[in-house]
Amino acid sequence: MSTTWTYKQPTEICFGIGARSALPSIIQGLGNRPIFAADLNMMQQKHTQEVFASLGSTAPPFSDIAPNPTLHSVDALVSHIRAEKGDVVVAMGGGSSLDCAKAACAIAVQSGTARCYHSEGAVLDGSRLPLVVVPTTAGTGSEVTPIAVLDDPQKGCKAPLAHDSLFPTVAVVDPELTASMPPFVTACTGLDALAHAIEGYWSKNHQPLCDTLACEAVALVFRHLVPAFTTPDDLDAREGMSLAALMGGMAFQLPKNAAVHACSFPLSSRYHLPHGAACAITLDAFMRFNADILGERGRRLARAAGFHDMPSFAEAVLQLKQAVGLPTRLREAGVHDTDLDSLTNASFHPLMNNNPRPVTPQTLRALYESIL
Ligand code: NAD
Repeated sequence: MSTTWTYKQPTEICFGIGARSALPSIIQGLGNRPIFAADLNMMQQKHTQEVFASLGSTAPPFSDIAPNPTLHSVDALVSHIRAEKGDVVVAMGGGSSLDCAKAACAIAVQSGTARCYHSEGAVLDGSRLPLVVVPTTAGTGSEVTPIAVLDDPQKGCKAPLAHDSLFPTVAVVDPELTASMPPFVTACTGLDALAHAIEGYWSKNHQPLCDTLACEAVALVFRHLVPAFTTPDDLDAREGMSLAALMGGMAFQLPKNAAVHACSFPLSSRYHLPHGAACAITLDAFMRFNADILGERGRRLARAAGFHDMPSFAEAVLQLKQAVGLPTRLREAGVHDTDLDSLTNASFHPLMNNNPRPVTPQTLRALYESIL
């Protein structure tokens, strides 16, 4: 049966080795008082300092950004933008820096704090400051999504804030900036890109353009992640992974993610797993879980990645996780069998409803047990 679909990607994308040199002219067209945001670790990187200097900004850089950014980080950036009368924001870093800036660009021109809008709060009114993002990891796809994943430590709740006004204005994707990632960050973010492609593809809301992007993204991850992990300066591999992350982001931002991401939220907030590792830990188990219901569609995705069918693709994902040193069992992340009931209950984020095969508390508990 044919269904109607729309594809939307308002972010302008400037991609390639050295693309960062275009930043000053891009900013000129968007505002006069740029605010630069990058987490503290990023601010110590040579490339980050060079990019900040190239903007000629008179405002000090903002770096109070926690990994898995908190509502506090967003409110602090909003205050900084207002105090410095910023009219355009440049965010450089991984998903944490980008997401913090995406939310702050909207809230800075509205009233209230980040908590007012987070986790089923008020709806953003659509106004926001222009935002240029410069990803330095290759995984989240945040550079092309209308999503900011924010953590509310007070409520113990990490959840996405989603609104069309959160699409960045311009994404400057320069793969050379990812070469300084520590290997563990390369591994986590690479599996995040893979999870986006797979979840966008099997989401109930999948559609042909996103399917095509997903097929290309999984192929790129299998070609380039291990070389990027073992040889950090391999710019061909870095370029392949930046493209995989971009395409993975474009593959899921409309269909939305499913069970793997629903489970990642409590796994990341309770056991402090980086987002990509929290997705990776259940990914191959859900590939086996969903294989039958996907049928030929699943085999098409598996073939795109270079495998025969979903089960063999799932086995290859398990081996890929081992090859890049990520945990494959929940125990390695500190999960005990006595945690499983509570973990199961906490995993039923609305994204679970996008999974192609219905997930019940019983089936999810059994899946968790199988990877304990
Ligand atoms: P991150 O931004 O948390 O960065 C992890 C660490 O790596 C930080 O210490 C950072 O300073 C460092 N780092 C990043 N790039 C580096 C580089 N080139 N060189 C040296 N160090 C570098 O990691 P992430 O995985 O990119 O982002 C994770 C966040 O993104 C999570 O909060 C996750 O929920 C969110 N996320 C958002 C979306 C979205 O669509 N908005 C999608 C997936 C994940």
